[in-house]
Amino acid sequence: MTQQPAFTDGSGVMVEALDVRKSFGAHEVLKGINLTIRKGEVVCLLGPSGSGKSTFLRCINHLERMSGGRILVDGHLIGYNERHGLLYEMSGKELARQRQDIGMVFQRFNLFAHHDVLTNISQAPMLIRGQSREQAFARARELLKLVDLEGREDAYPYQLSGGQQQRVAIARALAMNPKLMLFDEPTSALDPELVGEVLAVMRKLAADGMTMLVVTHELAFAREVADRVIFMDQGVVVEEGPAQQVIDSPQHERTKTFLRRMH
Ligand code: ADP
Ligand code: MG
Repeated sequence: MTQQPAFTDGSGVMVEALDVRKSFGAHEVLKGINLTIRKGEVVCLLGPSGSGKSTFLRCINHLERMSGGRILVDGHLIGYNERHGLLYEMSGKELARQRQDIGMVFQRFNLFAHHDVLTNISQAPMLIRGQSREQAFARARELLKLVDLEGREDAYPYQLSGGQQQRVAIARALAMNPKLMLFDEPTSALDPELVGEVLAVMRKLAADGMTMLVVTHELAFAREVADRVIFMDQGVVVEEGPAQQVIDSPQHERTKTFLRRMH
């Protein structure tokens, strides 16, 4: 029997977005997004401000209710159950369970200000995954090593730099053992000298085989780490392809204009 290459095997797909649409009132922000992300793939999503990148990311864990289309993560329909060909929105409980598999890191770190680092990372695994304190703490310490913050478990968010806080936020997302990590401009709120340390952690994650969808303006990171780059403008995917191809020799005028402004 011959082995099928992963990308033609349905089980090799992590995210499948089919004709995803989203309107706010009369404003159609996503106009039919189609996208497949394979397991272990790192995809960077580029595009001008207002093009719908955050809205699309938020649709993937149903923080936004889509106006049309569907999204599957690891073969599971997001936000809905299908019965007799009709879609019914999930209960909050089912949705919460589904979201456990999808880690999300935002521009703003959103750490719990009144909790130390160890509690920030271990709380959800204890409360939601039902891990014991020992288990959750041990894993949190392991993750602190991964994000280069070994020994900082007792620090409070206000005692940390923005870059350190963002690395704690990444560790916190990883503590739930997600199948997929979504990053929405994770370095955009950071002072320039702190960007590198966060990108270094993301690079490590990518090398470890994590499936990642990253909205970013860091072209050097995208070129080096992404398997594929998607350029979005005004709610549509304008261009996609291997990172170097899209960044170094874009085909579409809109992509060229955008990239010119970035340099
Ligand atoms: P990007 O992340 O690419 O900058 P967004 O997804 O944040 O773009 O926004 C796309 C468009 O949708 C923008 O025009 C924005 O104003 C609009 N938008 C986003 N969220 C809302 C909302 N909750 N209500 C109304 N309009 C929104
Ligand atoms: Mg955004």
